[in-house]
Amino acid sequence: MISTGYSEEEIKTLVKMYRTLLRKMRPVLKEGDAKIIRKAFNFALEAHKNDRRKSGEPYVYHPISVAMICVEEMGLGTTSVLAALLHDVVEDTHYTIEDIREHFGEKVARIVDGLTKIKVTMSKTPTIQAENFRKVLLTIAEDARVILIKIADRLHNMRTLDSMPKDKQLKIAAETEYLYAPLAHRLGLYSIKSELEDLYLKYADPSAYEEVVSKLKNSEEARKRFIRMFSRPIEEALQKEGFKFIIKSRTKSIRSIYNKMKRQNISFEEVYDLFAIRIILQDIPYEQEKKACWTVYSIVTDFYTPNTERTRDWITIPKANGYESLHTTVMSKSGKWVEVQIRTERMDDIAEKGYAAHWKYKDKSGITTEQGIELWLNHVREMLEKNDTSAMEFMDDFRSNLFQDEIFVFTPKGEMKMLPVNASVLDFAFLVHSEIGAKCIGAKINNKLVPITHKLQNGDQVEILTSAKARPNESWLKYVVTSRARSKIKDLIKEDKKQIANYGKEIVARKLAQLKVPFGEKTIQQMMEYFNQKTEFDLFYSIGSEMIPHNEIKAFYDATQRLESTRITKRTDDASLIKKEIKALTGNDELIIGDTNGLDLEYSFAQCCRPIPGDEIFGFATSTNGIKIHRVSCPNATKLMANYSYRILKAKWASQKFIQEFDVLLHVEGTDRIGVINEITQVIANKKVNILTIDMKAHDGIFSGSIGLSVHDRAELDELIRQLENIKGIVNIAREDEITAQST
Ligand code: MN
Repeated sequence: MISTGYSEEEIKTLVKMYRTLLRKMRPVLKEGDAKIIRKAFNFALEAHKNDRRKSGEPYVYHPISVAMICVEEMGLGTTSVLAALLHDVVEDTHYTIEDIREHFGEKVARIVDGLTKIKVTMSKTPTIQAENFRKVLLTIAEDARVILIKIADRLHNMRTLDSMPKDKQLKIAAETEYLYAPLAHRLGLYSIKSELEDLYLKYADPSAYEEVVSKLKNSEEARKRFIRMFSRPIEEALQKEGFKFIIKSRTKSIRSIYNKMKRQNISFEEVYDLFAIRIILQDIPYEQEKKACWTVYSIVTDFYTPNTERTRDWITIPKANGYESLHTTVMSKSGKWVEVQIRTERMDDIAEKGYAAHWKYKDKSGITTEQGIELWLNHVREMLEKNDTSAMEFMDDFRSNLFQDEIFVFTPKGEMKMLPVNASVLDFAFLVHSEIGAKCIGAKINNKLVPITHKLQNGDQVEILTSAKARPNESWLKYVVTSRARSKIKDLIKEDKKQIANYGKEIVARKLAQLKVPFGEKTIQQMMEYFNQKTEFDLFYSIGSEMIPHNEIKAFYDATQRLESTRITKRTDDASLIKKEIKALTGNDELIIGDTNGLDLEYSFAQCCRPIPGDEIFGFATSTNGIKIHRVSCPNATKLMANYSYRILKAKWASQKFIQEFDVLLHVEGTDRIGVINEITQVIANKKVNILTIDMKAHDGIFSGSIGLSVHDRAELDELIRQLENIKGIVNIAREDEITAQST
């Protein structure tokens, strides 16, 4: 062993670690394995000799611990242990992937390379995060071991997160919760998944975590007592039957207790299923497992009444991730429901260690879980290759997929296909081929005819029935659960719609030709407006599908003819059109307010600046409200002129005196003197000007407010302001627009 860089104490620890690792591996070690493991161990020791973890420990403790997790908690073999020992070498030291390949071969090098490439960094931008996520999946889809070792790596980092700064803790914890816990779940690593989630809670919400931990501790004695009492009669009966077994109790994970408390808004004491009792049968031959478990079920229910609705038989039909167990919930003597899990040692091994443990065993359906995981990884690859979804959509899809259980079904030729639980005949049809999906009218399952909506069961052999006449419609979307079928159906519906729209377009072209109206953008725009359609596509589709009857096109024509005859449409926002009209009539392109000059033109005064005759003004052609007249000094004027110069019209007031009155708002400020308001109203009344509103406030010897008036023109207003300014105590008097900008 290499001694440089490590203290004597540390070397002792390293030797101990090495021996433990080898001892744990003994059952899986093949000839020559011990030697290569020692080589990798020394290689890691040498490569990391100058590195320390944040806690001050030698860095190499980390890869060794990861290797230990791979062996002990995942049941992985030599290749994975080598890769785990070397997983940080390329990233953190001067050694390259070529060095690994040279010393440990292609397989190990590929896994280490994959592990090096995985860099999920949580980004604040969801799309970037989604892209990172996609990259991670691309790497893991290559070899399932990459993902397993990565989870082991993450588990060890989470276990030693204390020495990290707070912000890093939160970031790493969030990533774990977001990605690694769901992945662990999908791979059947139940205890690792629970531990990752518990550790997440520890850092994300320390006080909640502490609360649950301490309550679990405080209630431990009582729980143990209860379990002893509960188990005693079962134990005796099992012994009498000659079973070899152990009875364990399993407390729910901290995270799931906490979730339950929060979701159901209940206290810790009210969580009724805090723990489950697990009966693990030993030395049961594979063929007798099912019978043995049901015998135990029968014994348990001799003593306690089961809730039949809560019995789950995952032995006859295991979960897609390989989980096998017989669950029942029974009523205890003290009136509490207790979940009892019955399984064999083999099943327990699989349930605890997940994917890797399955390699050793074959499943009843003949499908090994390895095949199952392979199918799943194929599915991941396929999803990744499909580039038409956005990264975000993909991620949502994928994450929901992680938590979804799958079923296996077969084609008539016996080819196995994987589908999520609740998948229908239609989902299967689209999985086989999109052409078959599009023409699907039903299926034959085990020689029985079923409709497209029929939900498939594990092990079904499905023969799809098709008809050339079948066509997907919107309702099909309700019958499918896979994203593949969903997007294919949507595409097909879109295609159909496109054909209908094309037909609609032909109709429009023909009708317009008959009416001698040019088929151009302007006409189409007018039609969209007339028929209240948002897009050109909508318009053509509505006509093609006869939602708009074809004779309506003639009605549209008549209406536009009328509109055209008024020469200027009220709704146009194209000032050049209006200018042209004005010029044709007056020889001048200025809009004259108060004198129509024979122009049939609608305009109104902008509320933001309320122009009155005498003010400098301009016209603004709005898209929906005709022409608005603004003052040149309007607070919105600059914005309008800068952004919409093509809608601006020159305008001026007609020269005659206006009989009509215009509203204005005056802002007044002054010192608060008794009688000042009275004097103001007196001056206004003397000028025979109408007061519309008065709104005044006084504070700290100052008054301010506004007066609404109606005047004939600027001259009248200016004269009035002059007189008001002469009142003693008035400090400022101005028209409102000089104060704030409002909407046009
Ligand atoms: Mn690492």
